[in-house]
Amino acid sequence: DWTTMEYESSLAALRAAYRFPAGVMLALKSHFLSEASLGLAGQPSSLRMLPSFVNQRVTGNEAGHFYALDLGGTNFRVLRVPLEGGGVVGPIKSARFEVPKAIKEGTREELFGFLADSVATFLAKECGGNIEGDLGFTFSFPITQSAINEGKLIVWNKGFSAKDCVGADVVQPLQEAFFARGMNLKVKALANDTVGTMEAAAYSRPNTAMGVIIGTGTNAAYIEKTANVGKWRGAPCEEMVINTEWGNLDMRRFMNKFDMRVDSISDEPGAQTFEKMISGMYLGELFRLTITDPQVSGGFSSACKAALGSAFAEKSSLPTKLMSTIEGDTSPNLSATQKALAEKGVVRTTLRDRVLLREACVCISTRAARLSAVGIGSLLEMVPESSEGCTIAVDGTVFECYPYFKERMEAGLEELLGEQRARSIQLVLAKDGSGLGAAIIAAIAKSP
Ligand code: ADP
Repeated sequence: DWTTMEYESSLAALRAAYRFPAGVMLALKSHFLSEASLGLAGQPSSLRMLPSFVNQRVTGNEAGHFYALDLGGTNFRVLRVPLEGGGVVGPIKSARFEVPKAIKEGTREELFGFLADSVATFLAKECGGNIEGDLGFTFSFPITQSAINEGKLIVWNKGFSAKDCVGADVVQPLQEAFFARGMNLKVKALANDTVGTMEAAAYSRPNTAMGVIIGTGTNAAYIEKTANVGKWRGAPCEEMVINTEWGNLDMRRFMNKFDMRVDSISDEPGAQTFEKMISGMYLGELFRLTITDPQVSGGFSSACKAALGSAFAEKSSLPTKLMSTIEGDTSPNLSATQKALAEKGVVRTTLRDRVLLREACVCISTRAARLSAVGIGSLLEMVPESSEGCTIAVDGTVFECYPYFKERMEAGLEELLGEQRARSIQLVLAKDGSGLGAAIIAAIAKSP
């Protein structure tokens, strides 16, 4: 009958849009590798491949109490980390502070003042007012580093736009904000969250080869031979942790019409196109544009189609978490889905509507997981030693909470690398590792 034809054509449109077969994975891997080598050579490339100035391996024997700050997403975190050596981390004290929109978009002084004030609140509450120590600062935006504790912001993303920061050092204003408040905290290290995540895992697992984030945004860091980093102009050293900034990989050749739409209505069209196909800030947006598209929406009952159209008309009106809820719904009638949709104002849905919505989630998230597998597979190819087997530290709510995301990444890796090689690679959740990692990097920086 007619409605069945509409349903099937809608399913076919969905699947065609998000297909990502092995052949295309290989083409993307070649593209990734060629952009990566240009980036390392210092030639124009969408992969920035930023040297982190971390050029020593973490041993697990670093010891002492260190502070860490973690800025780069939804929350700002402050931690006090006791490193006990022998790969053992003592009980971490930490606090989370939500960064108000007005601060994200305010002045430089307001932003760094907010960070220092949050630290003061934490110290007063958790550390008996002690205001002395060494600190690692995880700052998860693209920076050009000029020392382990010095770096200039290249560009804001993830909703931040504070004035007078782009092109300026980000450690100095933090250090000044501490001193202005009489706090004797020394910023010893500046780290990206990917680097921190990797080092956090490396403290107890020495074979950690990579740190990956799949949260609000996506990015990865890995260890490269400095000889392969053509643009390196610093002191000679054997190895260097490289922050790839893979979220910015130019995906123009691989985008479907929904990706192009997400990109064109985003704050920075043309930038972070790999991230826009993978991360939590955009998956919900892809889902929203997909299910309200005429080619897909024809498969819904008319009541559902109309309700989806009005509930999800606005940009960013559909959070990625809803997709997680839908895919995590194991009830036979998809009643958890029904409830979650009703909360968004989509009250009347048939079971078939809910199945189609779920299928859209599967298509979008499976592709996202496979895309991130291609990123990992590409970097592994650049590190021949990793063929012995290695740990890949991953953090971010999408990796942690999205149902089957990890399994789909593993399946993607297996298709890309073959079963044997894929089995030697362990994706390990390094929850909130970036803060711990910054403390570890501060410890390394202290004892050169
Ligand atoms: P950040 O990367 O900012 O440090 P997170 O790792 O917590 O933060 O990721 C936040 C992102 O995760 C948001 O974009 C949000 O849409 C998404 N998210 C929140 N809850 C879930 C969930 N249950 N499943 C999948 N994604 C989620």
